[in-house]
Amino acid sequence: MAFHLRYIEKKEICKDTHALYFDITGKDFYYKAGQYASVTIPILEAKDGKGNKRHFSIANAPGENNFIEIITRKSGSDFSGKILNLVKGEELVFENPAGEINADNIHGSPVFIAGGTGITPVRSIVSYWKKKGVHKRITLFYANRTAACAPFMDEFRMYESSSFEFIPIFEEGEEERYEKGVFNEEIFRRYTNDISARYYYITGPPAMLSEAIKILVKAGVRDERIFIENV
Ligand SMILES: Cc1cc2nc3c(=O)[nH]c(=O)nc-3n(C[C@H](O)[C@H](O)[C@H](O)COP(=O)(O)OP(=O)(O)OC[C@H]3O[C@@H](n4cnc5c(N)ncnc54)[C@H](O)[C@@H]3O)c2cc1C
Repeated sequence: MAFHLRYIEKKEICKDTHALYFDITGKDFYYKAGQYASVTIPILEAKDGKGNKRHFSIANAPGENNFIEIITRKSGSDFSGKILNLVKGEELVFENPAGEINADNIHGSPVFIAGGTGITPVRSIVSYWKKKGVHKRITLFYANRTAACAPFMDEFRMYESSSFEFIPIFEEGEEERYEKGVFNEEIFRRYTNDISARYYYITGPPAMLSEAIKILVKAGVRDERIFIENV
């Protein structure tokens, strides 16, 4: 089913990264926390030949607001240029919410390993659980280039507790409270002392997914405990 949703506004939520909001008031737009939708800009004639449709994770939890939120960064494509310059009231078409990594499908005490915009489904799931009062032990490894361009840092910091372990990992910067570099075996082992008992959800760009899978498998995680999504 296709939903024509009106653009409300955008906010720069961290360096070069925008949250875009679309009105779902009165619409029966249903999705599960963590899912993505395919998004079409109907009026866009993409001269770069890359088309007018992309997938976007929905970053806020369902049932939370009368809007949905997507997060994106500027690239050189016509699609990116247009979606970051919408006029209030313009309609985009949202279809087919999908994605197996969603709040209904998370087993046991999850370990999330998120890179870049891969953090958006995790943010949706965690905020959904927080609002519903779901108590789970959660570990979140969050890899990004810098702290300044990593969305939702303050929010995850706020959730930190004995049952929510938050491990930001940044390639650049020297702050002591962050791990430096990329997600790697040493960092993984240092923060995960019950490796075989956990379930693993990896969301991010393809290179990061394959590297993270190698690390988990080498550490003895069985295939059936690893779930991935290319975001
Ligand atoms: C499940 C999922 C969730 C995602 N969630 C997010 C999200 O929350 N935020 C976000 O920013 N991005 C997300 N993405 C990625 C997003 O869909 C876009 O791929 C990304 O934003 C890059 O789009 P672009 O136009 O900037 O990049 P570009 O690389 O310029 O374009 C990518 C698109 O162009 C097409 N394309 C590339 N070259 C050609 C060609 N020569 N001819 C025809 N078509 C071509 C590709 O098939 C692809 O659809 C998600 C992707 C997936 C699969």
